[in-house]
Amino acid sequence: MSQLEIKDLHVSIEDKEILKGLTLTLKQGETHAIMGPNGTGKSTLAYTLMGHPNYTVTSGEALLDGENIFDMEPDERSRAGIFLAFQYPVAIPGVTVANFLRSAINARRRAEKPDDKGISIAEFRKLLKGKMDALKMDNAFAGRYLNDGFSGGEKKRAEILQMATLQPRFAILDETDSGLDIDALRIVADGVNALSGPDLGTLVITHYQRLLNYIKPDFVHVMMNGRIVESGGADLALHLEEKGYDWLREKAAEEVA
Ligand code: ADP
Ligand code: MG
Repeated sequence: MSQLEIKDLHVSIEDKEILKGLTLTLKQGETHAIMGPNGTGKSTLAYTLMGHPNYTVTSGEALLDGENIFDMEPDERSRAGIFLAFQYPVAIPGVTVANFLRSAINARRRAEKPDDKGISIAEFRKLLKGKMDALKMDNAFAGRYLNDGFSGGEKKRAEILQMATLQPRFAILDETDSGLDIDALRIVADGVNALSGPDLGTLVITHYQRLLNYIKPDFVHVMMNGRIVESGGADLALHLEEKGYDWLREKAAEEVA
C-alpha cells in the first residue's frame, strides 16, 4: 500500500508564507477532506503538490512511498500516480475529449518507453467506453472539444473521466471557491465514489460542507492559517456546518504564535 506523507510543509507565494507547517498522511484506500475558510491556503496545498511554479516550497517534504515528490517534475509526479483535478480547467478547441485522453495515455507510455507505438485506436475505444459506462457518461461526450463551451458540470465530468483514465493512486480535488451548482457537486461526488476503492487515496478540498453529504470521508481536517488545526471523522464536517470555524480560531492563532 502506498502513502503520501506531507511533513511540516512551508510554502510561500511571492515571499509571503501561506503554508506554515502542514502535516498530513494520505494512504491508498482512504478519503480525506480538507475544509477551511477562504484564504487559508487550501488551493496552495493542491497546486504545490502538483508542482505549480508560482508556489515555492521553503521547507518540509511530501514523500510518496519515501520519495520526495518536490524533487520531481509535474509530469513525473503524474506518472508516479498523483492526479490533480483542476478547479478551472482550460478549454482546448479542436481537440476532442477522446483525443486528449489518448494523447495523455500515449505521453505516459512514451515517457516509460520512448519507442512505444502508443495505444491502438481499437484498444483505446474499448478502454474509454468502459470508463464512460462505469461513470454513466453519454458516449457522445468523448467527441466534443475539451471544455469548449462546457457547463460547470461538464467540465467536472471531463476531469473525472481523465482521472478514471489515468488511474492515479492519489487524487486531489480542489473544489473550494468555485460556485459549483448541486449538479456539478454530484458529478464530482458520484465520480469519486465510483472510482474509490483500495487502490485510490483521495484528498477532497472543499469550502462547502454539502459536498460531504455525497462523499463520505474517512477523515476530515480543518485548515486555518496555513496548517491543520483539527482532525476528526466525518462527524467533524457536520459539527463545522453547525458551529462554523470560530471555535477553532483561537487554537489556530495559538499554534502560529
Ligand atoms: P484557499 O484555497 O484556502 O481559499 P489559497 O491557497 O487560494 O486559499 O490562498 C491562500 C492565500 O494566498 C490567500 O491569502 C491569497 O490571497 C494568497 N494568494 C493566492 N495566490 C496568490 C498570488 N498569486 N500572489 C499573492 N498571494 C496569493
Ligand atoms: Mg481555493
